[in-house]
Amino acid sequence: MPALPEPGTGSAHVSLVDRVEELLAADGPLPIVAAGDPVLRHTTAPYDGELGPALLARFVAALRLTMRAAPGVGLAAPQVGVPLRIAVIEDPAPVPPEMALVRGRVPQPFRVLVNPSYAPLGAERIAFFEGCLSVPGWQAVVARPTEVRLTGLDETGNAVDEVFRGWPARIVQHETDHLDGVLYLDRAEPRSLASNEAVAERWSQPTPRTAAEALGFPLPPGPVTG
Ligand code: ZN
Repeated sequence: MPALPEPGTGSAHVSLVDRVEELLAADGPLPIVAAGDPVLRHTTAPYDGELGPALLARFVAALRLTMRAAPGVGLAAPQVGVPLRIAVIEDPAPVPPEMALVRGRVPQPFRVLVNPSYAPLGAERIAFFEGCLSVPGWQAVVARPTEVRLTGLDETGNAVDEVFRGWPARIVQHETDHLDGVLYLDRAEPRSLASNEAVAERWSQPTPRTAAEALGFPLPPGPVTG
């Protein structure tokens, strides 16, 4: 008869620690899980100290490295096969001034989101093409709340309660959705689906208005549709 596990060292915890240790055994960016893997479709468990501070720090560093190498502006733990409610975001916003203005794409410093949740502030929604490292090669237009309130913790356990607007609001919604088993495609306009090449060649305008007319998908009413 097996001994009862010690508190905090149950088999689920041990296997999670083993999984992360195994991932971190190799140097360099972590492999990114692609759509079709069930880990991307399950709600993650809130992080409750399972990894301990040292392993958490190493895991966060690996997420950051992987996000930067991709490159991407966010990465959620399930995207590297770890079902924990942890994500990282960072966006240097290397876009032309007009696009930055229309999209509200201001630089977003590196952040760790632990157990994040968001709630829309107001009814305004705004639509843009967006992509996902777990759906390589494709982009689609997603209408999202322009402004959200994000609550949760940072990597040191301090409470976060912050309002995000513009592109950073889009990033925190996209990454938090990952932690609920939601992919951006679930919220996208299906007829907007476009290859990276098509977006680069045809739909690199600051807004998706031209794409909406040509491909036949709706956009939300709003101040920025031109
Ligand atoms: Zn994604």
